[in-house]
Amino acid sequence: MSPFLAPLEDVQPQAGSARIREVRALVPHPTDAGASDVHDTAASHWIQGLADADGGWDHQTTHPPITNPMSRYPRYAGARSSWGVANVPSVVVEVEDDEGRIGVGASTGGEAAAFLIERHLAMFVEGQNVRDRSHLWEQIWRASIHYSRKGLAVHAISAIDIALWDLYGKTLGEPVFNLMGGRTTQRVPVYATTSRPDIAKELGFAGAKFPLRYGPSDGAAGMRQNVASVEEWRSKVGPEFPLMLDCYMALDVQYTTELARRLIPHDITWIEEPLMPDEYTGHAQLARNLQGMGSPCYFATGEHEYTRHGFQQLIDPGVTLLQPDVMWMGGPTEFARVAAAASAQDVAVVPHGCGVYGYYMAMAFEEITLAEFMMMSEQADTIEPNFGAMFVSEPLPEAGYITVPDSPGFGLELNREALGLVRPYPR
Ligand SMILES: [Mg+2]
Repeated sequence: MSPFLAPLEDVQPQAGSARIREVRALVPHPTDAGASDVHDTAASHWIQGLADADGGWDHQTTHPPITNPMSRYPRYAGARSSWGVANVPSVVVEVEDDEGRIGVGASTGGEAAAFLIERHLAMFVEGQNVRDRSHLWEQIWRASIHYSRKGLAVHAISAIDIALWDLYGKTLGEPVFNLMGGRTTQRVPVYATTSRPDIAKELGFAGAKFPLRYGPSDGAAGMRQNVASVEEWRSKVGPEFPLMLDCYMALDVQYTTELARRLIPHDITWIEEPLMPDEYTGHAQLARNLQGMGSPCYFATGEHEYTRHGFQQLIDPGVTLLQPDVMWMGGPTEFARVAAAASAQDVAVVPHGCGVYGYYMAMAFEEITLAEFMMMSEQADTIEPNFGAMFVSEPLPEAGYITVPDSPGFGLELNREALGLVRPYPR
């Protein structure tokens, strides 16, 4: 508890500097699928995990299945789109100051997030100075705590915070990573999230992460096929190429323990997000199990965790690799706190997804030595922008590295023509 000696003084915007004139929350209505959101893809995209009706796939028209929290229900066990994974689209926040500079941020949340931003959260930002981001973050957090804490509302906070950092970078003419400590490397190494680790290796990525196919409801046969698929990829890419396994919240402690035991000979670098995010006791048990069996892989999770408070609940049980998504977990202001907590306890951090935003975090924190690149092409065979048509240009990997520019803010320009942006709750 802080030793309060007097009421907190109101923070006054610095005299003579620009104030924030308006916060706008926009929702894209793109004409093409995939123009704004990783989930928003055609049914034939590999990330839908749509296998043939007979359970087979050919890498041309169908794909390996992807186990997920809904796989246990037969009617939702097919493509991920069947349970509406893409029904909540992106939200884009613009923060404009009274000198006409505009900072841009993005998250997932669509019109629901736009409502929170316009009708509530904007009031703490408008009229303030972009320098005072920590203060603004804290006020937004405290004022929304009765409905936020985790999930959609923190997505909304993240989009605002990203827009503020972007605007501050544009105000100073500096890239965001310079505002967070500067470069810690010249280029950011990236691994590919993909259904085709063999192609990822050919393209020069630092490693490949592929989805687990089956969950506990697929029984012993599913377990055998899971192990066989890892064996298959290991034999295709050879012993040196790092492989990671994404379990997307589909498993339980016992299943993951047995899977990890069977995978010991195949040298998986990490097992990702095996449990539902709130199973903190389960995380502790699984961490003990993995350590007890001498499993060589990291226990990775965190893409659906929020704020420093949530990530501490992953560090404490013994998760060994955190995957904060700066677009979801609270924005750069909060990401820096999580990175500091992880570093102090020797827990690895590899930013989840979120394209450029994650690369800027990796650039600013020396402890982060790897970032994620999502293979957005339908067959996971060519390199395409993570955000589809959302931005005019995104830096793309070459030979397994991302080079981020020195341009101001996050160096991104909204592709307004392609996005069909709508402001659902104008004020
Ligand atoms: Mg994941």
